[in-house]
Amino acid sequence: MAAKVLDSSTRCLRCKSIVLVPIGPVPAGLLVWLAGRLEGVFGRHVIVAETVPLPAAGYDSHRRQYRGSALMALLRDLPYPGAERVLGLTDVDCYVPGLNFIFGQAASGGRQAFVALPRLRQSFYRLPENLALFRQRALKEAVHELGHTWGLSHCPDPRCVMHFSNSLHDTDVKGPGFCSQCRDRLGAVGKAER
Ligand SMILES: [Zn+2]
Ligand SMILES: [Zn+2]
Repeated sequence: MAAKVLDSSTRCLRCKSIVLVPIGPVPAGLLVWLAGRLEGVFGRHVIVAETVPLPAAGYDSHRRQYRGSALMALLRDLPYPGAERVLGLTDVDCYVPGLNFIFGQAASGGRQAFVALPRLRQSFYRLPENLALFRQRALKEAVHELGHTWGLSHCPDPRCVMHFSNSLHDTDVKGPGFCSQCRDRLGAVGKAER
């Protein structure tokens, strides 16, 4: 199904939807591709919302990174009344105190999460760009963070999407899917919310 665009004043009338929100400029091709994949993984409608501006107050000029908490607060306060989950995508580097950077962040058992894209690109490491690899990494991080919003914690199975990515290598090793245990847990939560 093609992704739809709605603005923040539009009530999303579909229940069980995941809303993808670009925070600052994000490649449109990636959003549409991700929306299709996430529909397949979670069995929800996935809607691409209009871009919202980066939270200027969340920028740390010393670190040249955005604070994850600022993006989470922005997502938490977006209306989207019909959205079951709100997933931000941003093309700026982010951190939380105590970590050099983060690939993403999620409210465990909550509505919002986001993925930071810059470090998922080969070019970030001065390697030739690889669009397919970039998209796969973005999908894995998106599924991982959404998994946290459904209450899943980190999984010891290195092939499971809920395995913690300490580095991009971990992201590349794991698949975009859940191991059977995480899949069962996700299914139980999904049914409980229905
Ligand atoms: Zn995680
Ligand atoms: Zn697992």
